[in-house]
Amino acid sequence: MKDQVGALIANGIPAAALNSMMPDEERQRIRQHCMQGKIKLLYISPERLMNELHWLLPRMDISLIAIDEAHCISHWGHDFRPEYAQLSVLKDNFPTIPIVALTATADKVTRDDIVRQLKLKDRQTFISSFDRPNLSLNVRRGFTKKEKIAAIVHFIQAHKNKSGIIYCMKRSDTEMLAEELATFRIKTTAYHAGLLPQRREKAQDDFINDRVDVVCATVAFGMGIDKSNIRWVIHYNMPSSIENYYQEIGRAGRDGMKSDTLLFHSLGDMIILRRFAQESGQNEINMEKLKRMKKYCETDICRRRILLSYFGEEATEDCGNCDVCKNPPQRFDGSILVQKALSAIYRTEQKANIKTLIYILTGSDREEIIEKEYDRLKTYGAGKDLSYKEWKEYIYQMIQLGYIEIDYTTNHKLRVTPLGQQVLFGEIRAELATYRSSEEKGIYTKGRGKQGFRYRPIRPKVSTTVEETLLDSLHQLRKQIAEKEQTLAYIIFSDDSLSDMVDKKPITIEEFGEIRGVGQIKQAKYGRIFVALIRFVLRLPKE
Ligand code: ZN
Repeated sequence: MKDQVGALIANGIPAAALNSMMPDEERQRIRQHCMQGKIKLLYISPERLMNELHWLLPRMDISLIAIDEAHCISHWGHDFRPEYAQLSVLKDNFPTIPIVALTATADKVTRDDIVRQLKLKDRQTFISSFDRPNLSLNVRRGFTKKEKIAAIVHFIQAHKNKSGIIYCMKRSDTEMLAEELATFRIKTTAYHAGLLPQRREKAQDDFINDRVDVVCATVAFGMGIDKSNIRWVIHYNMPSSIENYYQEIGRAGRDGMKSDTLLFHSLGDMIILRRFAQESGQNEINMEKLKRMKKYCETDICRRRILLSYFGEEATEDCGNCDVCKNPPQRFDGSILVQKALSAIYRTEQKANIKTLIYILTGSDREEIIEKEYDRLKTYGAGKDLSYKEWKEYIYQMIQLGYIEIDYTTNHKLRVTPLGQQVLFGEIRAELATYRSSEEKGIYTKGRGKQGFRYRPIRPKVSTTVEETLLDSLHQLRKQIAEKEQTLAYIIFSDDSLSDMVDKKPITIEEFGEIRGVGQIKQAKYGRIFVALIRFVLRLPKE
């Protein structure tokens, strides 16, 4: 509420917020202003509403009531909050005033429930597209922890000085990552529900005010954060549903400008998430949601099409802005590889897990292999020509394709499925996607250093274009003004406005008024100083 009120005031619209945290005198003052007609838009928290009806009802001529995050009113929504339930009194008290309920993620059941609970009659439903074409979609799997960190560092260096969020499943990972990134001089903070409230608030504040670029957070972070210039979101682990994933990546690029998303997933994530789902008390729904999420990660068709179809929208064309579209997998006849793996599984009497299976195939002389006499199997060393990582990738594909299944109840032992048997006996062919190493996928550069694996920093550019210098200067000016006015940088001007200034290079106050996001008030307030800066960078005389 605070951020939105700030943004409205900056645009010359008188607004205020009433909540239970503020002192009573402050609330009294706001009520007075409302009754004097000085406030155009009033924000009230749902728990505050009942206490404010006594003056709203008789004294105010309200023209519209809007309910934001309306999915919180429904048990079917993914974020039910009990204090929203009392919003049902609105229609009883204000029967003739139009009510609009707004939400970004609600499926059909939730939408119908919202209408019922708010007692809306003669209602109309407006559904806009779920498509966010400015977000690139990228998914990687099977990275080790060390590789993930290297890839993340590389990714952040390619998005220098841009804001981003890294979502982690575990609290300890948020802190571990923040520490790791700090060693690369990346301005980072950690955020999770286990931190003291002051530390959480500071982390959030530092991020919103651009004092840190990166927040490593659990999913507890992001609710109610209205920061329009988040340029990227990384998932360190797989989310538990597409709704969650969509909501979390949706925090990037709210200003409509190009933003990037990257998701890492592994079999390990899947095992943990399965357990969560089974213990959740809503086993069936959550397992189904998890299955859909997994499918999204493992697809080899355009990811955006899958995302849109999940929300009931049909896309007729590939998006060209996801990793599958940009880098389609190469396929080959992998029947022999599959046969080798399946036959090894049979020869262990289906007692091997993935690791053991790979050790057998690559002919490892580890104790655990020799002890069980797996070195005497006919398939021992039958796949020596491939590395551990290559086998891991191919076995993962065999699981995905339904040739092998994992028995989660018995220490993740592998079993051959009936479909797998058909490949084993040569009845059907198995197509696999060619393994590509991380380097081939262009994720990170290998360099020297301790442990033989270290990120090689990008060298600063020697020549900088006028546009780059201008953008940089505009950013700095915006930051200085925000600090002086004690507000947020993007409330002064969005990234989109700054980039429009770079494109159009306005050198008069009138031209400045033509920039996207510059209204009369901002033109009058900031026009002179911005135009002066632009003229300075372009080496033009003062106006
Ligand atoms: Zn695509």
